[in-house]
Amino acid sequence: MHVWTHHRWRFPLPSRHRFPLDKYELLVERVVGDGLVTEDEVHEAAPVDWVGLAAVHDAGLLSRIREGCLTVREERGLGLPWSRELVDRARRSVGGTLAATEHALDFGVAINLGGGTHHAGHDFARGYCLFNDVAVALAALRRVELGRRALIVDCDVHQGDGTAQIFADDPHTFTLSLHGARNYPFSRVPSDLDVDIASGTGDARYLRALREALDFALDRSRPDFAFYLAGADPWEGDRLGRLKLSKAGLLARDELVLDRLAAAGAPACVVLAGGYAADVADTVDINAATVAAVAARTRVLTA
Ligand SMILES: [Zn+2]
Repeated sequence: MHVWTHHRWRFPLPSRHRFPLDKYELLVERVVGDGLVTEDEVHEAAPVDWVGLAAVHDAGLLSRIREGCLTVREERGLGLPWSRELVDRARRSVGGTLAATEHALDFGVAINLGGGTHHAGHDFARGYCLFNDVAVALAALRRVELGRRALIVDCDVHQGDGTAQIFADDPHTFTLSLHGARNYPFSRVPSDLDVDIASGTGDARYLRALREALDFALDRSRPDFAFYLAGADPWEGDRLGRLKLSKAGLLARDELVLDRLAAAGAPACVVLAGGYAADVADTVDINAATVAAVAARTRVLTA
């Protein structure tokens, strides 16, 4: 199975920052080591061009990001120090989602080993997210008249406020977000369906809520393309999450979403989104299980 990565494009971070910069390389080593992908199937994502980003994001925001002129308030909200390297990396992260989206059209499902930057909205970049990769990829699909009816299933523990804002007035894109009720962001933009999950919720109750949400969202959206944000941060050991899912529960979640999307006939692009375990190896475990679930479901779609 082909996958995309941008792990070689690192950026300066203060020591002990929570952003898991090392995760991305470890994940590549892991999925190759596990035999899920060969080294030849790991592709370095190309950077999205600024025109592609402008299809989704406000020109003023893009120029502040490009020139390093974010306001103090914006940079604080972003939670990452601006650098040229940060911007280059973020463009490649979007590029990986673009490539995986295209691949999913042929193989039913594909994954970017990154992306899921759902706190980036039309005119704001916050919560470690510079650009909204999923929105940029959907805009690219629509330029070639695909993905007319889209569903975005966001299972990161944090609500997908940026995605919700971008698609608020788009009747052909259904945004579903399942997240910790008491997690960031604290000022929200409503999705088409937001499911607030109580702190401490474990596998069984979470999966029940997800099943009901998918029933509703699939019925309403009837998608011809889908994105799935497989956040690792609903895990019980996550430092930024408040839910109590086990690793087995997270895998059951991935399988449920992927199987429901496939049954609905919607090709799906999977992205990683967040994961902030104290030991990055735990986040890598969870992400690698997602990759395995995707690999088990690739199939050749006939036109
Ligand atoms: Zn998150």
